[in-house]
Parts: sequence; structure tokens; C-alpha cells
Amino acid sequence: MSHGYDYDLLCIGSGPAGQRGAVAAAKMGKRVAVIENRRIVGGVAVTTGTIPSKTFREAVLHLKKSAIQNRERFQRKTRPQIQDLLGRVSEVVQRESDVMERQLERNDIDLLWGNASFRNPHVVAIDDPEKGERIVTADKILLAVGTRPAAPPGIEPDGQRVITSDMLLQLARLPRKMIVVGAGVIGIEYAAMFAELGVDVTVVDGRERPLEFLDREMVDELIHQMRNVRVSFRLGERVASVNAADKSKVLVQLESGKRLVGDLMLFSVGRVGATDTLNLAAAGLGCDERGRIAVNDRFQTEVAHIYAAGDVIGYPALASTSSAQGRRAACYAFGGEPGDINQLFPFGIYAIPEISMVGQTEQELTKERVPYEVGIARYREIARGQILGDDSGLFKMLFHRHTRKLLGVHIIGTGATELLHIGQAVMTLDGGLDYFLGSVFNYPTLAECYKVAAFDAQNKLAYSAETEAPQLSEVKAEGV
Ligand SMILES: Cc1cc2nc3c(=O)[nH]c(=O)nc-3n(C[C@H](O)[C@H](O)[C@H](O)COP(=O)(O)OP(=O)(O)OC[C@H]3O[C@@H](n4cnc5c(N)ncnc54)[C@H](O)[C@@H]3O)c2cc1C
Repeated sequence: MSHGYDYDLLCIGSGPAGQRGAVAAAKMGKRVAVIENRRIVGGVAVTTGTIPSKTFREAVLHLKKSAIQNRERFQRKTRPQIQDLLGRVSEVVQRESDVMERQLERNDIDLLWGNASFRNPHVVAIDDPEKGERIVTADKILLAVGTRPAAPPGIEPDGQRVITSDMLLQLARLPRKMIVVGAGVIGIEYAAMFAELGVDVTVVDGRERPLEFLDREMVDELIHQMRNVRVSFRLGERVASVNAADKSKVLVQLESGKRLVGDLMLFSVGRVGATDTLNLAAAGLGCDERGRIAVNDRFQTEVAHIYAAGDVIGYPALASTSSAQGRRAACYAFGGEPGDINQLFPFGIYAIPEISMVGQTEQELTKERVPYEVGIARYREIARGQILGDDSGLFKMLFHRHTRKLLGVHIIGTGATELLHIGQAVMTLDGGLDYFLGSVFNYPTLAECYKVAAFDAQNKLAYSAETEAPQLSEVKAEGV
């Protein structure tokens, strides 16, 4: 015990940030407790977000595969039961949560159930509905409370006709017509999954293009493939009102006058920091209008002994980055130097098909006037693509035309999120085209796409070297 406090570190929230922070501190010999208000360990990542959505997707893909094998489609008579899909999800959620709970136990970390709120900067009250209130004190505190879905304006989600992504796992039946409001990552992922189940899906978003941080060609391909499973997009359209007065229907009125009718509306327009019940003021802290807490590059808040990590500090708000931040925050809190976090984040969009990217997009390179060349491989030209039956996968690498360095990798298709990490490693180690040209890849693998795309880029570079003189802009961009 340090300075008479109950704990050296108190982590509020047991998601990736809190859990990893707690384990890292325990490994440094610190006395640690985690407070969690959901009665299940793992946070949004395990209970309502990452793991459930990815397990749901896997179950959908499994059904799709067996339907193809049996030459069936998800027609009325063969419609899957949502309980079968969600049953698989709860199994995985429970197992994953058990693994995490055991990990906390193994590291002698106390797990305290209940909602935490500050009494003062070192004192936290834990409100457990079963056991009442308990007060704990700590030398250092890590805020890892994550986020919750923003509520749809003007209507209370009822869990059956109007839902947020947190409620999806309680659905009693598969909808026939679903309206997804918000074409961000979560909205697009669920729209793609439900469409594969034969649900008639309409996606509405005020922006003209979804997923603008991705390379445009990948998004165009995704939209094309989603339209093939009859997803309709209403882009550049805003919702004026939602009416769920009828027990079996939900009516969504758009500002343009269009009216959409469905039996389920998923509202997935952003998430807000879960800071409202923390009584931040008692700790001398505040948050922005989206409930997020500001930190410095050591994850310290304005109050030096209180740290924050994970979704509650904002971008990039991923399970992967939250884990790394939690671990680092704990390290900084106890005098460690974990080194800089590699800023070359990979992004994975688990739609059907999946998309992954690292580095820069063609749009960014064009805007910055960086001279680049594109290398493309198509899954249908790769033996593993044929074996897998994926003939639409598209793989793209972007190389600097003069230095030949790898600037970006963009993949849409089977295994994209795994395949990407080869490119991420090469980029991190400052590699480029020559690495791929000179390497032998296992055959038949999807990784062969790297080789094929590299030769494609090499051929284009060789051709343009014969036909072009360097442009003024290229010379300038390199500072020659
Ligand atoms: C549908 C969906 C799909 C996603 N898919 C992916 C994906 O594929 N890949 C990826 O990397 N990321 C994904 N994410 C994001 C990922 O889930 C989050 O980035 C991650 O969970 C954030 O971790 P965290 O530790 O910051 O907080 P969280 O996981 O949100 O955990 C915070 C925990 O703190 C608890 N808590 C909050 N307030 C208090 C309090 N006052 N007292 C006690 N406990 C409290 C909460 O109940 C929660 O259990 C997805 C998210 C969603 C919603």
C-alpha cells in the first residue's frame, strides 16, 4: 500500500484500456483494483461491441457458406433464426469474459462491481446495487470508462423496433426491413451482415460518402458489393423524425420528404464518453461536449495522478489502440518509459467483404502532391483466391515513385484484416517495393497478392520511366 491508500492504482472500467492498464501495473508489483459497473468483465469490446459483432459476422458467414453449399438462398422458408446466431455470440462473449476475469485473478487484481464516482481526487465511491456503497482510495487512478452510443434524437430506443448497437444482441427476431441511420463503421458493418441474412437494408447518412477515411476505390467496391445484396443507400439525406407508434413498424421521415418504412431501425450515429456518472468535478476534472477527457502524451489528465485511456480520450477509439494506451498509461504512472506508440495504425472494417488499410490513401497522396505508383492484385488471379471462392477481392499498394518506399496498403476481400499486417510491418521498417520483388511467398496464399501487386507497380514504373520526363511537381515534392 502506498501513502496509506487502499490501492496504488484504481482502474475505472474493465474494457481493453482498464484491463491492460491493471495487468501492467500488477506486473510492476502494484496493488491494483478494477471497478466495473456491468457485472461482466471486458467492457464494450467484449460485451456489446467488438467481440459480439465479429462473432455475429462469423456466424453469418458460416450460414452463407452452408447455404451456398446447399444451393439455397436466405429465402422466406430458409430464414435463419436470430437466436441461433445470438446463441453463438453469447457463448463467445462469456468465454472471452471468463478468460479476462481469470487474468485479473491470476495477477491478484481486485474486481469491484458497481458504478464508480469521485468523492475527491483520490477517493472513489462504488455504488453496487446489491451490496450498497463502498469507498475506496487510490494513489493513482486510470479512467477507462469507454463510450456508449449517442441516443437518437426525439425517440427512446425500445430495444425491438428502435435500437442502438448495444441493444442488437437482445433482438427477439430477425427484421425483414431494416433502416440503418449512420454509415460509420458500426452502421456499415451491421448493414452488410443483415443484408447477407436476406434482410432488406436501407442505409441513411447525411454525408455524401461513407467511410471517408478509407481509400475511395475500396469504398466504391464495398458499396457496389453491398448493393449486390440489395442494400439501398440514401446518402446526403438527413433524418427529420422517427415514429415507432405502430407496434410492428418504424417510420423514418427524411428532410427531403422521403419516407422509409421498416420493422427495425438501428441508430448508429456516433458514441459519447461514459463520463456523466463519474462526478468528474469532485476530482477537479471536466470533459468536452461529447463526454471525452483530454490527456497529454503520457495519458495524464489535468490532475496529474489521474490518467485516462481508451475510447474516452477519443481518436482512434479502437479496442486495439485502447489496450496499448491502457498499458502505457500504467507504465507512465509508475515511472516507466514504454517508448512512443507506433502511429502507423491499421484499420479494419468488418463489413462483408472486409476492408483493411494502413498508411496513406490515393486521395491523401494526391492532395499532398506526392508522386506515387499503384500496384494492384485481384484475388481472382491468385490461386488462394480461387480456392476460397473469392473472385472479387482487390488488393492495392501505393509506392513512392522515386524512393520506392511503401506508402499505403488497401485491401477489400477475404482475410483483408490479417493480410494487411505484412504491409504494416514493411512500412514500419521503412521497406518498399524491392522487399516484395525479392521475397518468396508461400503458395498458394493470399499473401501472394503482395508479390503480384509489387510486380504490377514495378511494370508501371518501368514503363513510365521509358516514356516520361520527371514533372516539376515531383522534383519539388522531393525537395531536389
Ligand atoms: C459495435 C462495435 C464494434 C466494434 N468493433 C471493433 C473492432 O472490430 N475492432 C476494434 O479494434 N474496435 C472495435 N470497436 C471499438 C472497441 O469496442 C472500443 O474501442 C473498446 O471497447 C474501447 O475500450 P475501452 O477500454 O476504452 O472501453 P470499453 O470497452 O467501453 O469499457 C469501458 C467499461 O467501463 C465501464 N464503466 C463505464 N463507466 C463506469 C463507471 N462509472 N464505473 C464503473 N464502470 C464503468 C463500462 O460499463 C465498460 O464496461 C467496436 C465498437 C462497437 C460499439
